[in-house]
Amino acid sequence: MANPLYDGLFGAHAGKTSPFLYLPDGQIVTHQDFLAIGARIANLFVGLGLVPGDRVAVQVHKSPEALALYAACAQAGLVFLPLNTAYTADELSYFIENSGASLIVCDGAKEPTLAPVAARLGAKLEILNADGSGSLMDQARDLPDTFDTVDRSGDDLAAFLYTSGTTGRSKGAMLTQNNLLSNAETLVREWRFTADDVLIHALPIFHTHGLFVATNVSLIAGSSMVFLPKLDLDQIIGWMPRATTMMGVPTFYTRLLDDPRFTRELAADMRLFVSGSAPLLAETHVQFENRTGHRILERYGMTETNMNTSNPYDGERRAGTVGFPLPGVELKITDPDTGATLPQGEIGQIEVRGPNVFKGYWQMPEKTAAELRSDGFFITGDLGKLDEDGYVHIVGRNKDLIISGGYNIYPKEIELILDDQPGVLESAVIGVPHPDFGETVLGVLVPEKGQTPDTDAIMQAVQTSLARFKHPRDLILMDELPRNTMGKVQKNILRDQFKDRFA
Ligand code: ATP
Ligand code: MG
Repeated sequence: MANPLYDGLFGAHAGKTSPFLYLPDGQIVTHQDFLAIGARIANLFVGLGLVPGDRVAVQVHKSPEALALYAACAQAGLVFLPLNTAYTADELSYFIENSGASLIVCDGAKEPTLAPVAARLGAKLEILNADGSGSLMDQARDLPDTFDTVDRSGDDLAAFLYTSGTTGRSKGAMLTQNNLLSNAETLVREWRFTADDVLIHALPIFHTHGLFVATNVSLIAGSSMVFLPKLDLDQIIGWMPRATTMMGVPTFYTRLLDDPRFTRELAADMRLFVSGSAPLLAETHVQFENRTGHRILERYGMTETNMNTSNPYDGERRAGTVGFPLPGVELKITDPDTGATLPQGEIGQIEVRGPNVFKGYWQMPEKTAAELRSDGFFITGDLGKLDEDGYVHIVGRNKDLIISGGYNIYPKEIELILDDQPGVLESAVIGVPHPDFGETVLGVLVPEKGQTPDTDAIMQAVQTSLARFKHPRDLILMDELPRNTMGKVQKNILRDQFKDRFA
């Protein structure tokens, strides 16, 4: 027996003194150093009485030790359960109780809140602060730096990862070793990662993008990462000449473009910029190419499936699309009512099947049954279509679909027109209650810096390009759209804010 995830991601680097993490202060953590931290923590886990299959809930700041918790869980056969650092005490208590964790690792500041939760659950509690201090490393530091890897099969659970909660309460997705490994192997090939790559990693490591996409890909390829605690433009700009790749959410790219230090010369030695987690505006794509000569590679995925589609490494990276299904991933567009596959070009729900698709939601059998078909297709909750060349276009979330007077209205179609209007930086179109139509269309516009868009003129422009039932009933200016930590627009907040506008 073996442990495919540990062996593939971590064990493969045993004895290597090559850099794995470059830290902001210039320190380097080698592959070997990193494995040693992981093994010490794994020894501590066993000492604490954890047994394979137990859950380890983690809410800590991003640090090498925080990442080593993932390695330690894989090596000891435990289920790694990272939690968003922004979660409040109430949310945390809910997730931890829901997961039935045997061990909670948290920042010292959260101890007063979580100690009673741990006591209620009969779970252990250890502290890991941002600087590596706290009871976890105090105990682990003197333990052996090797650990006998626990046998696991590819079908065993490796992680519970909570979704971002953009459309409702976050759900715990149960991911197996094979889910993670198969996807990372595919992405390494598709995106041509090698041991020579240096990835700028400024994403959080409690979410699939920073944890499974960025980290797993780097580990399989044997690349190194510039490991930054957060989006820090000074750091990113400082490191870029020594890096080769970056992965980010769209906000990373708009923030970089806003910075005059971000030039073609600065990005000259980079070979790849990847974007995902939220739609990248076509305009950002174009501006980025004009500034740097690089075309951002946009891909599409989610907590439940890791990555599903990607624009091609070679070949046209088409702005406003998320590219093609990855090798091994089947994707179809179906009728939400019947589940039948729709003809090319028609909008429907995006369904995916492949070795990347999760096992189900933890303790939510009804939700799992509603979204994961018995034939293995997962109903993603996103709406999209295939263009004539097979590129996947995402038009929004099923839950954001507006139904007005019996007509389906896709917010994206209206947003694309609004985004193009003079003085408009970006927009969000939502459905709000209306006494006659059930719902009606409301457009929220964010002005470009220093501009005041002419909403009357925009309303007229929209009316000439869209059928009457799609016309926004009103346009509202807002300084910025509400976004969560992954840069996703929180339309539920907007809907709530404007729910009485026409009621
Ligand atoms: P929840 O499921 O809790 O409502 P969430 O779906 O935002 O939250 P994640 O799993 O983090 O949680 O995000 C996956 C979603 O992000 C996808 O379903 C899709 O809507 C969106 N997404 C990811 N990549 C892209 C992309 N390139 N373009 C557009 N949307 C994207
Ligand atoms: Mg989701």
